Amino acid sequence: MRVALSILFIIFGFTNGISQTGIIRGKVIAEVKADFDFIKENIQVLICTGCEEFSTHLDENLNFEFHNVRTGAFEIWIEPHSTYTYDFKSGNLKKDEIFEIEIPVAFSCVYDQSENDKTCPICRKQNRVIPIRYGLVIGNGAGRKYRVAGCIRTDCDPNWYCKRDKIEF
Ligand SMILES: [Zn+2]
Repeated sequence: MRVALSILFIIFGFTNGISQTGIIRGKVIAEVKADFDFIKENIQVLICTGCEEFSTHLDENLNFEFHNVRTGAFEIWIEPHSTYTYDFKSGNLKKDEIFEIEIPVAFSCVYDQSENDKTCPICRKQNRVIPIRYGLVIGNGAGRKYRVAGCIRTDCDPNWYCKRDKIEF
């Protein structure tokens, strides 16, 4: 009887252990508006938890949800990958938790949007926005008329600097 009871407890403990799950609920943020449709149609979200891997597609609003995810450490990423954003994240899911996550994604340079538009994305104004200059800059307007950003250019660099909000965009 005692042995049977112990076995029962072990079985109960085991099944209870593997049934500990939570929900991962998230949203992919299209950092470049022009990417929205591409992301909606092509992006898969994948999670890896323990030894298992799951994937799902996005809904109309780029939301996704994984149900019955085993508790513990997990990793989450998107495919196809983007060279413009670091899209690999990790977390730790607790029992019955709804883990909320946002994954910002860009498939083109986020600064291309501002190339011909010096409106600051924070204050929505242009009056304290100055251009960013790259390379060796000659003259004495640095900091006042323009911001000097050094010599190294990538294929995705900011164009403007807002003195009010101290951001590059
Ligand atoms: Zn601003």
